[in-house]
Amino acid sequence: MTGLHVEKLSYRYGAKQALKQVSFGVSPGQFCALLGPNGAGKSTLFSLLTRLFTTPDGQITIAGHDLRREPRKALAKIGVVFQQSTLDLDLTVHRNLTYFAALHGLSGREAAKRIDAALDRLNMSERRHERARDLNGGHRRRTEIARCLIHDPAVLLLDEPTVGLDAATRRAITDHVHDLSENDGLTVLWATHLADEVRDTDQLVVLHHGEILANNSCAALRGNQALADFFLDLTGAEA
Ligand code: ADP
Ligand code: MG
Repeated sequence: MTGLHVEKLSYRYGAKQALKQVSFGVSPGQFCALLGPNGAGKSTLFSLLTRLFTTPDGQITIAGHDLRREPRKALAKIGVVFQQSTLDLDLTVHRNLTYFAALHGLSGREAAKRIDAALDRLNMSERRHERARDLNGGHRRRTEIARCLIHDPAVLLLDEPTVGLDAATRRAITDHVHDLSENDGLTVLWATHLADEVRDTDQLVVLHHGEILANNSCAALRGNQALADFFLDLTGAEA
């Protein structure tokens, strides 16, 4: 079981309830778009999935491991791209990835092999010796996506990975990550507030004010409507 399951997850910041009884599952190899406007609770959910925050309310299962009972095993199975970039801008692409590999206990030949494969997968091999600071936004994001593949995760979590990028770059990165689920069998949770990043074949989970309002294939949910119209009708918010 390599999917992701969230059961009755709630979280509050003081009086502010950010997540209310959130339950959903993503099957192995599925691309799931988590669509919600700013403030919906997407990043809060990611903080719980990555154990930056913990809560006694609810349960998270990653690749068959309960995050509370087996945190190391569960966390070893996820690859994460956070909303804010976490690259070291003074280091080259390759160095950023080497340090990450070492953090996961990989070194030497095995690390080199996986780094090469990940860079190749994201079409970043030619830029391996460039400093992260000298890359454009799209290439920085690609570097982060390559990095999150090195330890051979089963589940990828990406929190608004295309924010601030131009349309063509957004499209290329969205395509790359769809390809990782379709061809490499990775389970993907992709948070976004942009309806145009969601495909009909994606699972669509709509999060609004901390609650899940819809969960089905995008095609089934939107029917004959444009997704943005479906979303507006459902939430009263633009996407
Ligand atoms: P999203 O990522 O979907 O934009 P967030 O998870 O960042 O949403 O935020 C969900 C809600 O929780 C928002 O109303 C936000 O203002 C609130 N929130 C987020 N972080 C904090 C915090 N550290 N303290 C208090 N409220 C917060
Ligand atoms: Mg966010």
